[in-house]
Amino acid sequence: MPRWCWGTRSPGTSSPPRPTGPVPPRAHRSRSTPATPCEQCDLCREGRQNLCPHTSYLGSAARVPHTDGAFAERYVVAARRLLPLPGGLPVRTAALAEPASVAWHAVSRAGAVAGRRVLVVGAGPIGLLVVAVLRRAGAREIVVSDLRERPLSVARELGATATHLGAPPEDLKAEVAIDSSGAAAGVRSAVLASRRGGHLVLLGLPPSPEQPFPTGLVATRELTVAGSFRFHAELADVVAALADGSLHVDPVLSHEFGLDEAERAFAVARDAATSSKVLLRF
Ligand SMILES: [Zn+2]
Repeated sequence: MPRWCWGTRSPGTSSPPRPTGPVPPRAHRSRSTPATPCEQCDLCREGRQNLCPHTSYLGSAARVPHTDGAFAERYVVAARRLLPLPGGLPVRTAALAEPASVAWHAVSRAGAVAGRRVLVVGAGPIGLLVVAVLRRAGAREIVVSDLRERPLSVARELGATATHLGAPPEDLKAEVAIDSSGAAAGVRSAVLASRRGGHLVLLGLPPSPEQPFPTGLVATRELTVAGSFRFHAELADVVAALADGSLHVDPVLSHEFGLDEAERAFAVARDAATSSKVLLRF
């Protein structure tokens, strides 16, 4: 079994003694972008680096050899992948910049959301960050459904205008629906609650590649369906929005542990009934 280090969310302090290009000054607070696309393939050249098939990703086991992550006191990253953190931005908030970028990208895949009724199915950490991004983007109604009450209360803190324990109402007529659950039942409920002519974004990754999907309703309601995977250029915008306070995400951080409590941190993070995002402090 290969030794491999987890961790994709990686704000910290850079100490760059061997630069080959422009880098933040020594001991500057930075965060790294977790993806290293090839920058050569057709998708990279089209500006869709998040879809690059040759990407390595911090803490990802998708390729062999696996890519070590940032669960370490020090790790090496290409200087061009460092993004300086604005002065007033707390590191613990910056830790959410990567998952918030995933949410930001998903919202960008939904078409216009300002002034619209938007449904978010699944209030895990990414779904909650979608709520935060939607609020900043000016959605008129943000309706959230989940199978647990605790994440729904966090969703309300972040700006959800209505929450539903279980499936959303089938007569909701959402103009945009974003599935963050990845569950077949969740996707089905998103389709049922969609308005004719609506947009559906599939953000949640399903447990297996093939899932039942209500294609008849997608056709007759003429839904526009888009997938959403990771992110690319959004990180700088997200860091700026976190720093200027227009993107409010702090309620998503439910726990913070020191390294000596790492085992407990993982146990808490696994339990969606009690936690959202859990930070491990190095
Ligand atoms: Zn590429």
